[in-house]
Amino acid sequence: MNTETRVLEPGQIEAPAGQIPFLRLARPDVFKQRAERLLQLSLGDSQGGHSIGGYLALLATLAQAQQQALDHFPAAPLPTPEQQALCREHGMPVLGAQAWPRDPSWRGVLKTILQHMAAAPLTAPASAVVARLMQTGGTELESIASKLLAGDLSDVDAQDMPFVAAALQVYWVRMAAELGEHAFGKLEQGGLCPVCGSHPVAGIVRVGGMEQGLRYLCCSLCATEWHMVRIKCSNCESTHKINYYTLENSNGAVKAESCNDCNTYLKLLYLEKDSQMEAVADDLATLALDVLMGETGKVRGGLNLFFHPGSAQV
Ligand SMILES: [Zn+2]
Ligand SMILES: [Zn+2]
Repeated sequence: MNTETRVLEPGQIEAPAGQIPFLRLARPDVFKQRAERLLQLSLGDSQGGHSIGGYLALLATLAQAQQQALDHFPAAPLPTPEQQALCREHGMPVLGAQAWPRDPSWRGVLKTILQHMAAAPLTAPASAVVARLMQTGGTELESIASKLLAGDLSDVDAQDMPFVAAALQVYWVRMAAELGEHAFGKLEQGGLCPVCGSHPVAGIVRVGGMEQGLRYLCCSLCATEWHMVRIKCSNCESTHKINYYTLENSNGAVKAESCNDCNTYLKLLYLEKDSQMEAVADDLATLALDVLMGETGKVRGGLNLFFHPGSAQV
């Protein structure tokens, strides 16, 4: 593993705040793009197939189902203008993943997704999970969703997780799009999503124009991207003792940014090296880097809703 320490001061290499967009909501075709990237990654590279190619291919089909569900999502209740203002005033996320009372329509999304999956060519174990979830009652699904959104994964079945997470993502992306970017303000904690308060899945260092070299964090739930200066821990916001790790023989497109103050790390995707990268997909495709970071004693600062840390699903 290669490691390097950066000594640039935060903000030194970036456009002044105020000239750059602080927040970008997920694009309307977010899941289509993710599906394409997952499919591409599932095929492996010139060295051969990907070690978790089968799982990445399953998630590509799942992301296609998410896009279809998003395209046909009916209107769902949203916070009133007064509720939105109150959240902004107190630095709270307007669509808090745990605080917002979920509308049952997210379970309709899950049903749509499961129907799409049932019609796809799946492995026998995946088919069995889809069939089981189709029969699972609303109370149990709500219980799984609550644990998932609280980050309490020890009690969530690793096989249920991707499907339930997929439906919740669609629901949150739709609500955020309905409200629009102006509805959201900055939170006190810069490392949490300004829309829903979730942890990021990874960071992206952008390329081109005003955004050249800027780092945005990507929400694990609603796919919102929000700006955070570089060389700063996204977990504890320390600017000291930040180190970068890459896999040996990699092209440096994905690095783990680690913090010695809070002992966590988050991956950064450098679009300059590969403009096709997508946060959720490329995070999953680089689990080898997580293994190496684990050997250094660092723990993940973010969350990928398609990776259950306590399971051998991949
Ligand atoms: Zn979010
Ligand atoms: Zn830290």
